Amino acid sequence: MVDFKVIREQFPILDQEVHGHPLVYLDSAATSQKPQCVIDTEADFYRTINAGVHRGAHELAARSTMAFEDARAKVARLVGANAEEGQEEVVVTGGATAGLNLLATAFGNASLGRGGEAAKRFALKPGDEIVVSKAEHHSVLLPFQELAYRTGATLKWFDLTEDGRVRSDTADEVITERTRVVAVTHVGNTTGAITDIAPIVRRAHEVGAVFILDACQSVPHLKVDFHAMDVDFAAWSAHKMYGPTGVGFLYGKRELLEALPPANFGGSMVELAWMDQPAQYMEPPARFEAGTQPVAQVVAAGVAAEWMMGIGLENIEAHERTIAAELLKLGDIDGVRILGPRENVDRIGTVAFDVAGVHPHDVGQFIDAQGIAIRVGHHCAQPVHRHFGLYASNRASSGVYNSVDDAAALVEAVAKVRPFFKV
Ligand code: PMP
Repeated sequence: MVDFKVIREQFPILDQEVHGHPLVYLDSAATSQKPQCVIDTEADFYRTINAGVHRGAHELAARSTMAFEDARAKVARLVGANAEEGQEEVVVTGGATAGLNLLATAFGNASLGRGGEAAKRFALKPGDEIVVSKAEHHSVLLPFQELAYRTGATLKWFDLTEDGRVRSDTADEVITERTRVVAVTHVGNTTGAITDIAPIVRRAHEVGAVFILDACQSVPHLKVDFHAMDVDFAAWSAHKMYGPTGVGFLYGKRELLEALPPANFGGSMVELAWMDQPAQYMEPPARFEAGTQPVAQVVAAGVAAEWMMGIGLENIEAHERTIAAELLKLGDIDGVRILGPRENVDRIGTVAFDVAGVHPHDVGQFIDAQGIAIRVGHHCAQPVHRHFGLYASNRASSGVYNSVDDAAALVEAVAKVRPFFKV
């Protein structure tokens, strides 16, 4: 039995008062807080082994390379990916946004003929289709919309159910023989809804399309296994899974990473470079990791992955489900509407809500005055807000350190909003 009170004690930032109240942090979908072991790892790295990786013959460089690759292996284990040397399936990126842009840029390069015959499976031309969903974060929508503009492909999308779920049941119609790329979120960052991706993956593969998963909001909360899910690529950020900012990961099936042309160019990704002929690039993952990497952050992210596995992803999931249940009581408050599934089924503890007659910024300020941190705005997902007939909303989102009491404190505070603003 995991004692989540003890887990909370590992987060020094939570031990403080805000506006005279004990801090209640319910904004983990924006970024999670960091346990002491992650903070210590980053600092210790700089204190003891800081050096550039994969180059230099000296001892510190060897140790930091080992720590970096060891972290990659830990992160791979978290998501069910290969980590053996020569078979690595996890690429270090600057975050989910960087990973998704890397893919869109690489597909654009393949469309220009780069990467040769092997990369043709990623190439797009006018008449081809790229499919996303209306639930996407802008970091999925925009790179692939731009890719469509650059290649002449057509952007299509999955619609949502009334409560904001991706309409996976329409996969056979939305994905056609012309579809080359499908990019869909695993968990909506506004709705908290878990997408039933199986029918979408199956259909994408049936027509020979590449399936990309935005795993930003699932990896921190759910047990994922990218092999079992049969996804081709998946991107996520370390800072939402109790790791540092500035780093993220891109999973790719090994054979696809081997076929994919690079997107960023520079040091540490090239075998041979000449003035008068094309360079010969390294094998993955190095091919996609141009330039000096955020080594301390990657090493700390590896510790975060190990720490999550130590608690057990099933335990994290079960704990956060109890918080989601409490957050969903927001929907019982007069004038409050939940933007997402009302039932605590196939969803996580991310609950966006609208308070009739009160602007989200006013709601946020009122809640903040009571020491409770939530996010207000469009959460970088404007189409999903439009789906609900809104421009912005309020969003509470849980992490492992939250208790049911935290959620109850929010529900109590939200109940006072409309009376306070006299609406
Ligand atoms: N996708 C989803 C679903 C997200 O919630 C986020 C972060 N809000 C991103 C992508 C982008 O992540 P990052 O800003 O860390 O690159």
